[in-house]
Amino acid sequence: MTETRLPRPTKIVCVGRNYVKHAEELGNVVPAEPLLFLKPPSSLVRDGDAIVLPPESERVEHEGEIAAVMGARCRRVAGSAAMAHVAGFAALNDVTARDLQRQDGQWTRAKGFDTFCPVGPVAPAEDVDWRGLAVRCSVDGQLRQEGRADEMAFDIPFLVSYVSGIMTLMPGDLIATGTPAGVGPLVAGARVAVEVLAGGVPISVVENPVTGPAFAAG
Ligand code: MG
Repeated sequence: MTETRLPRPTKIVCVGRNYVKHAEELGNVVPAEPLLFLKPPSSLVRDGDAIVLPPESERVEHEGEIAAVMGARCRRVAGSAAMAHVAGFAALNDVTARDLQRQDGQWTRAKGFDTFCPVGPVAPAEDVDWRGLAVRCSVDGQLRQEGRADEMAFDIPFLVSYVSGIMTLMPGDLIATGTPAGVGPLVAGARVAVEVLAGGVPISVVENPVTGPAFAAG
């Protein structure tokens, strides 16, 4: 795996309900336009770091996703030109406190805890055709989620274009493109892995142990 080094993101832009079956499993439908929310950069962790379950939630879940990583500043870029501004792709886990998401309506708390955004190494975009990307998520070695970029309601170039029409994208910024069906709980002691594959070959992997608040340091 080659890794591209980029600045820390100024923002992590996430897309909700971008796969039909995942929208359905939570009792929702795919929206007419991309449903966007933000995770704070303070939620970022790397491969091997612990996901720390917060005491405020009784139901924390994994969401394996394909992240597009921006390589150039852009604003209102056309869909046809969008991929020229993407530096690469990475595995991302949009860890979510599902009970707080339902309770709050706004998702900032449910999605924003420290350690709730594990991201793998960035695989260079020039080596990859985005149409052939897929994502898998497993817990303790058991496959929980599997999805392909060509199953997304809104595809990756459209998402980059759409987000850039709202906010200036900066090098290192992440766009998490939504999770496929199969989300489920994370409990202390588990290990969760998200893999992004291109043409069936893993290009970015992020694997993290899950710890309870009783074991959290600092
Ligand atoms: Mg998500």
